[in-house]
Amino acid sequence: MTQTDTCPKCGSPLAEITTTATGRQLQRCTQGSWNPQTHKNEGCDYVKWIEIEPQTLDEVCPKCGSPLVLQFTRFGKKMKKCSAGSWDKEAKKVVGCDYVEWVNGTTEPLDEVCPKCGEKLVLYTTANGKRMKKCSTSGWDKDAKKATGCDYVLWLKAGQESSDNGEEYLPPEEP
Ligand SMILES: [Zn+2]
Ligand SMILES: [Zn+2]
Ligand SMILES: [Zn+2]
Repeated sequence: MTQTDTCPKCGSPLAEITTTATGRQLQRCTQGSWNPQTHKNEGCDYVKWIEIEPQTLDEVCPKCGSPLVLQFTRFGKKMKKCSAGSWDKEAKKVVGCDYVEWVNGTTEPLDEVCPKCGEKLVLYTTANGKRMKKCSTSGWDKDAKKATGCDYVLWLKAGQESSDNGEEYLPPEEP
């Protein structure tokens, strides 16, 4: 990954890498800037999305035993896929192992306590990048199909705890 790239549209250098609310990374052209008042890009609108390198996991594929890798889709969803599989662009099909497992959000412990019960809170990130704080005692009873424990939940609005950089207004990502 080089940081000395120039903009293919206007030839100006690209700005520093910024991280979006969903954890994706991008570089804008230094000739462009986001105007929060008009919700428009001013100047050059070139945006370079930075590919997140697949991360090899400490888990193996239940189908073939090859290592699994963690990949991010263009919408910030996460999935685990088998490293023995790959996409054949010409044949438009998976070659090798086709094992895929979607990751349904992550939980991180927080240094805050629940206002309802005083237990620790956790930060929960959903598969599509939404975030909420919830009580660590809460759970889901699959058999009874109902929530268990404390029901305290605080959704974090988009932009809260992260820079409001107008990510949702960016032009569609290039393939
Ligand atoms: Zn440019
Ligand atoms: Zn496999
Ligand atoms: Zn609680």
